[in-house]
Amino acid sequence: MAGSEAAWALANAGVPVVLHEMRPVVKTDAHHTDKFAELVCSNSFRSDDWRGNAVGLLHEEMRRLGSLVMRSAMPAQVPAGSALAVDRDVFSDAVTAALTAHPLISISREEVRALDALFSSPLAGEVARAKRVTKGA
Ligand SMILES: Cc1cc2nc3c(=O)[nH]c(=O)nc-3n(C[C@H](O)[C@H](O)[C@H](O)COP(=O)(O)OP(=O)(O)OC[C@H]3O[C@@H](n4cnc5c(N)ncnc54)[C@H](O)[C@@H]3O)c2cc1C
Repeated sequence: MAGSEAAWALANAGVPVVLHEMRPVVKTDAHHTDKFAELVCSNSFRSDDWRGNAVGLLHEEMRRLGSLVMRSAMPAQVPAGSALAVDRDVFSDAVTAALTAHPLISISREEVRALDALFSSPLAGEVARAKRVTKGA
C-alpha cells in the first residue's frame, strides 16, 4: 500500500517511476495475490468522519492531495457505519489498474536483492554507510 501510494504521488508529480514488486515471483507469508495494495489485515481504514475524528481528517487530507488509496477505496466501499471499510479484491483491483495504466509508471516483477538495483553504486554505498552510522557501527 505504501509503495503504491508513493509511486502514484511521484508519477503524478511528473517523475518516472519503476515500481518493484516481487510477487508473484517470490511470495510472502502474508500476501495471497499478486495485486498491489493487497490488504493483509483488517479491511477497515477506521473512521471516515473528517469533522470529528483525526483519522477521518487524515482521509480527507489524502483525498484532497489526490491519494490513490482514497480514490480506490470509493468503488470498493462496504457498509461499516462511520468507518471506511472496503472489499479487499475490489480495492486492490482498482489500485492495480490505476498503477498499471499510468504512463509514467513501469512495473518490475522481480525481487530486489541489492541496493545497486535501485540506486547507482555510489549512492547505494552512501545508503549503506548511513545505515551503519544509524546503528552506531
Ligand atoms: C496477519 C497480519 C495482520 C496485520 N494486522 C494489521 C492491522 O490490523 N492493522 C495494521 O495497521 N497493520 C496490520 N498489519 C500490518 C500490515 O501488514 C501493514 O499495516 C501494511 O500491510 C503495511 O503496508 P506496506 O505497504 O508498508 O507493506 P506491504 O503491504 O507488506 O508491502 C510491501 C511490498 O513489498 C514487496 N516486497 C518486499 N520485499 C521486496 C523485495 N526485496 N523486492 C521486491 N518487492 C518486495 C512485498 O511483496 C509487498 O508487496 C498486519 C500484518 C499481518 C501479516
